[in-house]
Amino acid sequence: MTTAEDDRLEFKLPDVEFDDDVKVCPKCFGAGVVVEEEDGVRRGRVCDCQRGLATRRRTAAAGIPARYRECSLDNFDIVSGFTHESVIRAKRFAESFVDNYPAVDAGLLFMGPVGVGKTHLAAGVVKALTEQKGAGCRWCDFSDLLAEVKKRYAGSTFDEYVILEPLVGAEVLLLDDLGSMKIRDWTLDFLSYVINQRYVNRRIVVATTNYLDEPPTGETLAEFARREETLAERIGPRLRSRLLEMCKTVPLGGSDFRREQRQTGILRNL
Ligand SMILES: [Zn+2]
Repeated sequence: MTTAEDDRLEFKLPDVEFDDDVKVCPKCFGAGVVVEEEDGVRRGRVCDCQRGLATRRRTAAAGIPARYRECSLDNFDIVSGFTHESVIRAKRFAESFVDNYPAVDAGLLFMGPVGVGKTHLAAGVVKALTEQKGAGCRWCDFSDLLAEVKKRYAGSTFDEYVILEPLVGAEVLLLDDLGSMKIRDWTLDFLSYVINQRYVNRRIVVATTNYLDEPPTGETLAEFARREETLAERIGPRLRSRLLEMCKTVPLGGSDFRREQRQTGILRNL
Protein backbone atom coordinates (compact mmCIF):
# COMPACT_ATOMS: atom_id res chain seq x y z
CA MET A 1 0.00 0.00 0.00
CA THR A 2 2.77 2.44 0.85
CA THR A 3 4.00 4.57 -2.00
CA ALA A 4 6.30 7.52 -2.18
CA GLU A 5 3.24 9.74 -2.53
CA ASP A 6 1.84 8.65 0.83
CA ASP A 7 4.85 10.12 2.55
CA ARG A 8 3.72 13.59 1.54
CA LEU A 9 0.51 13.28 3.54
CA GLU A 10 0.41 15.45 6.58
CA PHE A 11 -0.91 12.72 8.81
CA LYS A 12 0.07 9.12 9.24
CA LEU A 13 -2.63 6.54 8.92
CA PRO A 14 -2.58 4.08 11.80
CA ASP A 15 -1.48 0.53 11.06
CA VAL A 16 -4.38 -1.73 10.36
CA GLU A 17 -4.43 -5.31 11.49
CA PHE A 18 -6.52 -7.47 9.25
CA ASP A 19 -8.61 -10.06 10.95
CA ASP A 20 -11.01 -12.19 8.95
CA ASP A 21 -13.44 -12.42 11.87
CA VAL A 22 -13.80 -8.69 12.30
CA LYS A 23 -15.66 -6.54 9.79
CA VAL A 24 -13.35 -3.79 8.65
CA CYS A 25 -14.58 -0.85 6.63
CA PRO A 26 -13.45 -1.51 3.04
CA LYS A 27 -13.03 2.20 2.33
CA CYS A 28 -10.72 3.23 5.15
CA PHE A 29 -9.67 -0.18 6.51
CA GLY A 30 -10.67 0.96 9.97
CA ALA A 31 -8.62 4.16 9.98
CA GLY A 32 -11.73 6.33 9.93
CA VAL A 33 -10.14 8.60 7.32
CA VAL A 34 -9.94 8.33 3.54
CA VAL A 35 -7.75 10.29 1.19
CA GLU A 36 -9.26 11.66 -1.96
CA GLU A 37 -7.79 13.55 -4.86
CA GLU A 38 -9.66 16.45 -6.34
CA ASP A 39 -8.19 18.79 -8.95
CA GLY A 40 -4.78 17.33 -8.28
CA VAL A 41 -5.00 18.06 -4.54
CA ARG A 42 -5.10 15.21 -2.07
CA ARG A 43 -7.24 15.73 0.97
CA GLY A 44 -8.14 13.55 3.91
CA ARG A 45 -11.76 13.42 4.95
CA VAL A 46 -13.69 11.55 7.60
CA CYS A 47 -14.85 8.22 6.19
CA ASP A 48 -18.58 7.58 5.78
CA CYS A 49 -18.35 4.67 8.20
CA GLN A 50 -17.47 7.15 10.95
CA ARG A 51 -20.46 9.27 10.15
CA GLY A 52 -22.67 6.21 10.59
CA LEU A 53 -20.88 5.50 13.84
CA ALA A 54 -21.60 8.98 15.20
CA THR A 55 -25.27 8.59 14.29
CA ARG A 56 -25.44 5.20 15.97
CA ARG A 57 -23.84 6.65 19.08
CA ARG A 58 -26.30 9.55 19.12
CA THR A 59 -29.21 7.16 18.59
CA ALA A 60 -28.07 4.98 21.48
CA ALA A 61 -27.58 8.05 23.69
CA ALA A 62 -31.11 9.24 22.89
CA GLY A 63 -32.46 6.25 24.82
CA ILE A 64 -35.51 5.57 22.64
CA PRO A 65 -37.43 2.70 24.28
CA ALA A 66 -37.23 -0.57 22.34
CA ARG A 67 -40.90 -0.58 21.40
CA TYR A 68 -40.57 2.76 19.59
CA ARG A 69 -37.19 2.20 17.99
CA GLU A 70 -38.62 1.24 14.62
CA CYS A 71 -41.04 4.18 14.56
CA SER A 72 -40.16 6.81 11.99
CA LEU A 73 -42.02 9.58 10.21
CA ASP A 74 -41.63 7.60 6.98
CA ASN A 75 -43.39 4.50 8.27
CA PHE A 76 -46.07 6.38 10.19
CA ASP A 77 -48.73 6.04 7.49
CA ILE A 78 -47.88 2.47 6.70
CA VAL A 79 -47.90 1.39 10.30
CA SER A 80 -50.92 3.36 11.33
CA GLY A 81 -53.10 3.25 8.25
CA PHE A 82 -54.65 6.17 10.03
CA THR A 83 -56.41 8.84 8.04
CA HIS A 84 -58.03 11.15 10.57
CA GLU A 85 -57.52 14.70 9.32
CA SER A 86 -55.89 15.90 12.54
CA VAL A 87 -53.39 13.05 12.45
CA ILE A 88 -52.40 13.81 8.89
CA ARG A 89 -51.95 17.45 9.88
CA ALA A 90 -49.89 16.43 12.91
CA LYS A 91 -47.57 14.39 10.74
CA ARG A 92 -47.10 17.37 8.44
CA PHE A 93 -46.22 19.52 11.46
CA ALA A 94 -43.68 16.93 12.55
CA GLU A 95 -42.09 16.80 9.10
CA SER A 96 -41.81 20.54 8.68
CA PHE A 97 -40.41 20.83 12.23
CA VAL A 98 -37.64 18.41 11.27
CA ASP A 99 -37.05 20.17 7.93
CA ASN A 100 -36.69 23.55 9.62
CA TYR A 101 -34.60 22.36 12.56
CA PRO A 102 -32.50 23.94 14.05
CA ALA A 103 -34.18 27.13 12.79
CA VAL A 104 -37.22 26.57 15.02
CA ASP A 105 -38.22 28.72 17.97
CA ALA A 106 -40.58 26.26 19.64
CA GLY A 107 -40.90 22.54 20.15
CA LEU A 108 -44.00 20.40 19.65
CA LEU A 109 -46.64 19.21 22.08
CA PHE A 110 -48.60 16.29 20.62
CA MET A 111 -51.90 16.26 22.40
CA GLY A 112 -54.70 13.74 22.04
CA PRO A 113 -56.39 10.62 23.34
CA VAL A 114 -54.67 7.30 23.89
CA GLY A 115 -53.66 5.44 20.77
CA VAL A 116 -53.78 8.05 18.01
CA GLY A 117 -50.08 7.80 17.20
CA LYS A 118 -48.61 10.66 19.25
CA THR A 119 -45.62 8.73 20.51
CA HIS A 120 -44.94 7.26 17.09
CA LEU A 121 -44.73 10.79 15.68
CA ALA A 122 -42.57 11.97 18.57
CA ALA A 123 -40.24 9.00 18.09
CA GLY A 124 -40.13 9.78 14.39
CA VAL A 125 -39.10 13.36 15.14
CA VAL A 126 -36.34 12.21 17.51
CA LYS A 127 -35.09 9.69 14.99
CA ALA A 128 -35.08 12.15 12.10
CA LEU A 129 -33.35 14.87 14.14
CA THR A 130 -30.73 12.37 15.28
CA GLU A 131 -30.06 10.87 11.88
CA GLN A 132 -30.56 13.83 9.54
CA LYS A 133 -29.69 16.84 11.67
CA GLY A 134 -27.05 15.41 13.97
CA ALA A 135 -29.05 16.58 16.98
CA GLY A 136 -28.40 15.16 20.43
CA CYS A 137 -31.81 14.04 21.66
CA ARG A 138 -32.88 12.53 24.95
CA TRP A 139 -35.98 10.45 25.56
CA CYS A 140 -37.68 10.78 28.93
CA ASP A 141 -40.74 8.83 29.96
CA PHE A 142 -42.65 11.05 32.35
CA SER A 143 -43.78 8.39 34.83
CA ASP A 144 -40.34 6.71 34.77
CA LEU A 145 -38.78 10.06 35.61
CA LEU A 146 -41.05 10.63 38.59
CA ALA A 147 -40.57 7.04 39.78
CA GLU A 148 -36.79 7.44 39.53
CA VAL A 149 -36.82 10.74 41.39
CA LYS A 150 -38.95 9.23 44.15
CA LYS A 151 -36.82 6.12 44.39
CA ARG A 152 -33.59 8.07 44.63
CA TYR A 153 -35.07 10.51 47.05
CA ALA A 154 -35.92 7.64 49.38
CA GLY A 155 -32.24 6.64 49.45
CA SER A 156 -29.68 8.35 51.63
CA THR A 157 -27.44 9.65 48.86
CA PHE A 158 -29.83 11.50 46.64
CA ASP A 159 -28.17 13.49 43.94
CA GLU A 160 -30.94 14.77 41.72
CA TYR A 161 -28.49 16.24 39.25
CA VAL A 162 -27.45 12.76 38.16
CA ILE A 163 -30.96 12.29 36.80
CA LEU A 164 -31.89 15.83 35.90
CA GLU A 165 -28.82 17.34 34.30
CA PRO A 166 -28.88 15.08 31.24
CA LEU A 167 -32.49 16.16 30.74
CA VAL A 168 -31.63 19.82 31.20
CA GLY A 169 -28.57 19.67 28.97
CA ALA A 170 -29.85 17.63 26.02
CA GLU A 171 -30.17 19.53 22.77
CA VAL A 172 -33.71 18.17 22.31
CA LEU A 173 -35.73 16.63 25.14
CA LEU A 174 -38.57 14.24 24.36
CA LEU A 175 -40.97 14.14 27.27
CA ASP A 176 -43.32 11.24 26.66
CA ASP A 177 -46.73 10.82 28.28
CA LEU A 178 -46.69 14.06 30.17
CA GLY A 179 -49.25 14.06 32.96
CA SER A 180 -49.49 10.26 33.06
CA MET A 181 -48.89 10.64 36.77
CA LYS A 182 -50.64 13.44 38.54
CA ILE A 183 -48.20 15.66 40.34
CA ARG A 184 -48.91 18.13 43.04
CA ASP A 185 -46.16 17.29 45.47
CA TRP A 186 -42.44 18.01 45.62
CA THR A 187 -41.80 16.02 42.44
CA LEU A 188 -43.32 18.98 40.62
CA ASP A 189 -40.25 20.98 41.64
CA PHE A 190 -38.00 18.59 39.77
CA LEU A 191 -40.01 18.71 36.60
CA SER A 192 -40.31 22.50 36.86
CA TYR A 193 -36.55 22.72 37.27
CA VAL A 194 -35.96 20.75 34.06
CA ILE A 195 -38.54 22.70 32.07
CA ASN A 196 -37.52 26.11 33.38
CA GLN A 197 -33.82 25.50 32.83
CA ARG A 198 -34.55 24.48 29.28
CA TYR A 199 -36.76 27.52 28.82
CA VAL A 200 -34.04 29.88 30.04
CA ASN A 201 -31.50 28.23 27.75
CA ARG A 202 -33.92 28.17 24.81
CA ARG A 203 -33.65 24.42 24.40
CA ILE A 204 -36.27 22.51 22.48
CA VAL A 205 -38.86 20.24 24.14
CA VAL A 206 -41.00 17.78 22.22
CA ALA A 207 -43.74 16.28 24.38
CA THR A 208 -46.76 14.01 24.19
CA THR A 209 -49.77 13.97 26.46
CA ASN A 210 -53.12 12.20 26.64
CA TYR A 211 -54.61 15.23 28.36
CA LEU A 212 -56.29 18.02 26.52
CA ASP A 213 -55.49 21.58 27.28
CA GLU A 214 -58.66 23.42 28.13
CA PRO A 215 -61.89 22.26 29.71
CA PRO A 216 -64.92 23.04 27.53
CA THR A 217 -66.29 26.51 28.21
CA GLY A 218 -69.53 26.81 30.16
CA GLU A 219 -69.05 23.37 31.60
CA THR A 220 -71.72 22.11 33.99
CA LEU A 221 -70.88 20.28 37.19
CA ALA A 222 -72.16 17.05 35.68
CA GLU A 223 -69.97 17.51 32.61
CA PHE A 224 -67.02 18.28 34.85
CA ALA A 225 -67.58 15.03 36.74
CA ARG A 226 -67.68 13.03 33.51
CA ARG A 227 -64.82 14.47 31.53
CA GLU A 228 -61.14 13.63 31.63
CA GLU A 229 -58.82 15.94 33.49
CA THR A 230 -56.93 18.65 31.62
CA LEU A 231 -53.18 18.99 31.35
CA ALA A 232 -53.20 21.86 33.83
CA GLU A 233 -55.01 19.67 36.33
CA ARG A 234 -52.36 16.97 35.90
CA ILE A 235 -49.14 19.01 35.98
CA GLY A 236 -50.29 22.32 37.44
CA PRO A 237 -51.21 25.57 35.67
CA ARG A 238 -47.75 27.15 35.84
CA LEU A 239 -45.92 24.31 34.20
CA ARG A 240 -48.67 23.94 31.66
CA SER A 241 -48.42 27.58 30.58
CA ARG A 242 -44.62 27.43 30.48
CA LEU A 243 -44.83 24.39 28.20
CA LEU A 244 -47.29 26.13 25.92
CA GLU A 245 -44.82 28.97 25.60
CA MET A 246 -42.12 26.51 24.60
CA CYS A 247 -44.10 24.20 22.33
CA LYS A 248 -46.53 24.48 19.49
CA THR A 249 -49.63 22.47 20.37
CA VAL A 250 -50.38 19.74 17.85
CA PRO A 251 -53.81 18.21 18.54
CA LEU A 252 -54.58 14.70 17.34
CA GLY A 253 -58.04 13.18 17.39
CA GLY A 254 -59.87 10.13 16.25
CA SER A 255 -60.91 6.77 17.54
CA ASP A 256 -58.83 4.54 19.74
CA PHE A 257 -56.35 3.60 17.11
CA ARG A 258 -54.25 1.41 19.38
CA ARG A 259 -57.19 -0.79 20.31
CA GLU A 260 -58.36 -1.05 16.72
CA GLN A 261 -54.91 -2.02 15.52
CA ARG A 262 -54.53 -4.60 18.24
CA GLN A 263 -57.83 -6.11 17.21
CA THR A 264 -56.72 -6.41 13.64
CA GLY A 265 -53.33 -7.64 14.80
CA ILE A 266 -51.41 -5.17 12.65
CA LEU A 267 -49.50 -3.21 15.18
CA ARG A 268 -47.42 -4.04 18.19
CA ASN A 269 -45.41 -0.86 18.39
CA LEU A 270 -47.74 1.69 19.88
ZN1 LIG B 1 -14.41 3.69 6.85
